[in-house]
Amino acid sequence: MILVHSFNSSIDITYQINHLNIGQVHRPNTVIKNAGGKGINVAKVLNQLKENVLLMGYIAGNNGKTIKTKLENITLSNEFIETDGESRICIAINDGVHQTEILESGPLIKKVYQKEYIHKLKRKQHCNVQVISGSTPILEDATPLEHTHTILNSIESNYNIVDVRASELQQLLQYDEVHCIKPNETEFDELIGFTCEHLEQRIDVLKHNPLFQNKDVFLTLGGNGALIKRNNHLYRAHIPNMQIVNPVGSGDSTVAGIAYGIENLFDDEMMIKFAMACGISNAMNEQTGYISLSQINELIDKIKVEKI
Ligand code: ATP
Repeated sequence: MILVHSFNSSIDITYQINHLNIGQVHRPNTVIKNAGGKGINVAKVLNQLKENVLLMGYIAGNNGKTIKTKLENITLSNEFIETDGESRICIAINDGVHQTEILESGPLIKKVYQKEYIHKLKRKQHCNVQVISGSTPILEDATPLEHTHTILNSIESNYNIVDVRASELQQLLQYDEVHCIKPNETEFDELIGFTCEHLEQRIDVLKHNPLFQNKDVFLTLGGNGALIKRNNHLYRAHIPNMQIVNPVGSGDSTVAGIAYGIENLFDDEMMIKFAMACGISNAMNEQTGYISLSQINELIDKIKVEKI
């Protein structure tokens, strides 16, 4: 079973308009409302891959109920802790050129609900792969680091993938329970504390920086593929040029692909190809967290993995 945590789930609303003019009234051409948040995107992709996935998280109020209903409509197994307040709404306004985003921060999670979450998790005892993805909401009496570390220690898991803010990751990497991270270039630079000028420099950092010792790192490079450190070997993934529609959520889809590869005992090369194909397929489709199995099958043959 793959267990995915989404601590700060949201209703994601996308408004498609012609031009965004500050101070003017806008009537959107289309409105899309989805259950969102990085963890939810990961779980959605695993669900489309027909993997045995369970989504856990906090939800609150009527927005929380809407999130749960939307997930149940796509038969995604979920177990949420219901908290006080309202789950957040995240708005993206797309005018064909730019995307303007308004992101709420979500409700405060009281200590009593954090305890309930841990209790629920401990009762499960074991999962094979676990994913923690996305931001942590405001917590009563705990830092995001403490919260994530407690979650990682509350269930036995063979492989933990953590995709959270670089500022949290820096400290989380000291824990043996973090097996794999998936930063993009910006997050990677923030993590190491300086901006890499070129690919060779990133390879050098991946090889020698003690932060990454004994960790698997999927450093994704958007349309340029990825650099991967897996089992202390380094790889470069070269991806084909495809018609891209919406790359938002490609990182989350890549995380889903990594989890799927680990769960299904893929070798390194196949796992990398599969994870890349999930990311590209998401980018080729309009909806965030949506992949197509036929696209993935076609893409796998076009992705080249080079050992470096
Ligand atoms: P997000 O935060 O939107 O989920 P990210 O910044 O974490 O994404 P990216 O590095 O943009 O992640 O992309 C992850 C993977 O998705 C890439 O390694 C690649 O396989 C695929 N991908 C992303 N953007 C493109 C693109 N423009 N063309 C082709 N593939 C892409």
